Amino acid sequence: MPLIAGNWKMNGLAADLDQAQVVAAGVGAASTARVVLCPPATLLARMATVLTGTPVLVGGQDCHDQPRGAFTGDVSAEMLADAGASLVIVGHSERRAAYGETNATVAAKALAARRAGLEPIICVGESRAERDAGRAIDVICAQVAGCVALPLAAGAFAIAYEPIWAIGAGLTPTAVEIAEAHAALRGALIDCAGGRGAAAPILYGGSVNPGNAAEILAIADVGGALVGGASLKAADFLAIVHAA
Ligand code: PEP
Repeated sequence: MPLIAGNWKMNGLAADLDQAQVVAAGVGAASTARVVLCPPATLLARMATVLTGTPVLVGGQDCHDQPRGAFTGDVSAEMLADAGASLVIVGHSERRAAYGETNATVAAKALAARRAGLEPIICVGESRAERDAGRAIDVICAQVAGCVALPLAAGAFAIAYEPIWAIGAGLTPTAVEIAEAHAALRGALIDCAGGRGAAAPILYGGSVNPGNAAEILAIADVGGALVGGASLKAADFLAIVHAA
């Protein structure tokens, strides 16, 4: 079953919770996709409440690797779970760039998610310069090797392949480039996590919209989508869900 995840990033006030309700109404119990919305932490508990009894899950956008402590401003995986989250995004390229998160940081966060019973969505992706230098596949496979620690294989997790240059840019790789990346990631996942690596969905993320979703989701080994901008409008996000 494909996983369609919406990342609201630092967008959304209480008035926007109606978008989540519209999504839930449109997804329906017979949906062929798993659907998760990842609002800012301030909205997570309230969104979980309005989505209770619907098939739409709620996720976090990041977590600390420690369960509690003197980490001003941070939120732990346990806190996200307590607020109603089922999944959490870790290692988004915006966090790697803005907060210096390394593969080791991301690996620790993914394990923290596992500890708290959350399904981590681990993001990997190359820069434009790395792709132009012919290094995209090496970079993303090294990120998987660095972020997917063996204990993770004890539970469900997902990978999101997000070329940094495609995020929020209106640009996407070609279908051949996406297929090549996902095939390489599958091999790297099996090397790191065996059977769980073979089963983990590999989402594509980067400028997915209602116009390109069906084509992207039909590419071999694309197990869903991580959607940024287009997840903010319920109609656009639903169109992507229905393309899955
Ligand atoms: C993202 O930031 O994870 C993302 C995929 O954004 P967008 O869909 O806006 O490119």
